[in-house]
Amino acid sequence: MMFMDLYLDLRNKFVMGGVSLLHPITVERGVNALLYDVEGKVYIDFTSGIGVTSLGHANPELIEAAMEQLKKLWHICVMIANYKPYVELAEKLVKMAPGKSEKQILFMNSGSEATDNAVKIARQVTGRPYIVSFENSFHGRGSMLALALTGKYKPYKVNLEPFPPGVEFVPYPYCYRCIFGGVYPDCGLACLDYIRKYFIYSRVPPERVAAFIIEVVQGEGGFVVAPMEFIRELKSFLENNGIILIDDEVQAGFGRTGRMWAIEHSGVEPDIMYTAKAIANGLPLSAIIGRREVMEKVNPGTYGGTYGGNPVACAVALKVLEIFERDKIVERAVKLGEIVRKRFEEFRDKFKIVGDVRGLGLMQAIEFVKDGRSKEPAISEVAKILEIARLKGLLLLRAGLYLNVIRVHPPLTIEEEYLIRGLDILEEAIREVEVHGDR
Ligand code: PMP
Repeated sequence: MMFMDLYLDLRNKFVMGGVSLLHPITVERGVNALLYDVEGKVYIDFTSGIGVTSLGHANPELIEAAMEQLKKLWHICVMIANYKPYVELAEKLVKMAPGKSEKQILFMNSGSEATDNAVKIARQVTGRPYIVSFENSFHGRGSMLALALTGKYKPYKVNLEPFPPGVEFVPYPYCYRCIFGGVYPDCGLACLDYIRKYFIYSRVPPERVAAFIIEVVQGEGGFVVAPMEFIRELKSFLENNGIILIDDEVQAGFGRTGRMWAIEHSGVEPDIMYTAKAIANGLPLSAIIGRREVMEKVNPGTYGGTYGGNPVACAVALKVLEIFERDKIVERAVKLGEIVRKRFEEFRDKFKIVGDVRGLGLMQAIEFVKDGRSKEPAISEVAKILEIARLKGLLLLRAGLYLNVIRVHPPLTIEEEYLIRGLDILEEAIREVEVHGDR
């Protein structure tokens, strides 16, 4: 008789259905890149809980760092008294942020909160109301402002109108599906021309814009990588107009792309950037880092919160940084990323449903299409690949405007053997769906 997962029943009964569930399993524990469910079945984890557990599940050094801090102090609130892990982490992160300018930091708990606070800073400092975001972006669903800035309607924004005003959208340089019909680099960055020659005349003039907010690699959007030239040209346009560049590094940051910060691939220094997810390997923590000349102009008392920069989360983040440096984790992301990319390119040659292969470092994805010419999204096929892969012991993530993208998000510490085994399973799943259809 099959063992029934009673915990899924509990979830169905008592947890609101508004929280989606990608894989109908109940996990009990993990060891680095492996997860064990309550039935004892083992899975290779290509999700890292959406790019969070970059140093693996149950990392013993991180457990020890957390335990030590737990015994000393686990809460006081940074607005009540100063404490060591907060300021030690502040110094470390500020020093490793991209660019040469002096910087300051603020800690919060989540990516959504970081989005809100980056926007608060930009508005307060410039005295301007508008924030320009990108289509197909994701900046959080944990607050109405983060949602307002998210450039995809379903499923995040359904029936939640009205959103906070003062938000405008422009197309992201999604070259595989360029809505200007261009092909990079021959297009001459038509998407940027749209901003410079049209948008600022039709929608909102630059002097009313506080900030542009961008992911250098769109995460939920399907690992769409902006041409680095786009980032550089955008920054110079913004600089000429006194507009702040906010760089959302929540998903692409912390070594994923083969650089500590995704924006480093472009050489641009953002005015404000923020990170979350992998920063404390899963304990709730986010950081907003801004140029000192920006951060100094804010109003005292506007920022903070009860939990932001929790001592245990900060202590773990300090250990995360130590391990990143000692074990050369970013270099590892480059090396493992090459393995994945090479394999994905082979898939593109083998399977006609593999439309686009893209990414940076260990942030690699495949966009699936019914056929290469029409580029009609292969949505049900992707759902089927995820299911087949899970049954074979691999957990994968979907993404993209049409949910027809499979993104690979393993811990950066995954053993090569498991990475390759996971890619083998993915290949088997793609083959089954391509040969038999998505019945
Ligand atoms: N920004 C980006 C780029 C993200 O990928 C996410 C989460 N997927 C967020 C913001 C929101 O983070 P959180 O879920 O921690 O609020």
